[in-house]
Amino acid sequence: MAESPFKADIERVQKEYSEKMTPGAIVYIPGSSVVNKTGGWRVFMPKFNKDKCVRCFMCYTLCPEPAIYLDEESYPVFDYDYCKGCGICANECPTKAIEMVRESK
Ligand code: SF4
Ligand code: SF4
Repeated sequence: MAESPFKADIERVQKEYSEKMTPGAIVYIPGSSVVNKTGGWRVFMPKFNKDKCVRCFMCYTLCPEPAIYLDEESYPVFDYDYCKGCGICANECPTKAIEMVRESK
């Protein structure tokens, strides 16, 4: 699987925050949302069926989080650290290659 494109950003932001903490939780480092892992909110998760995917990029384009990136063949990869389970990708996929399934405990 392709490596998350945010790995370098996460490391940079974590390093900068550890050196420059400010009171009041002020966001002052560009791109700092990458350390806020929104996947913990999820109740439903997208389940991807590669056989149905036509690589149209609708899911990649419409995902409101940095939760979908593309692999070397331009297939979507779901990053469950950031996917909050909104279901937009599944709703908009023209071939129904994404199904929302309830998270297991
Ligand atoms: S369920 Fe929502 S947050 Fe998760 S990958 Fe799909 S569009 Fe992105
Ligand atoms: S919207 Fe559906 S068909 Fe298009 S790239 Fe995403 S999973 Fe594949």
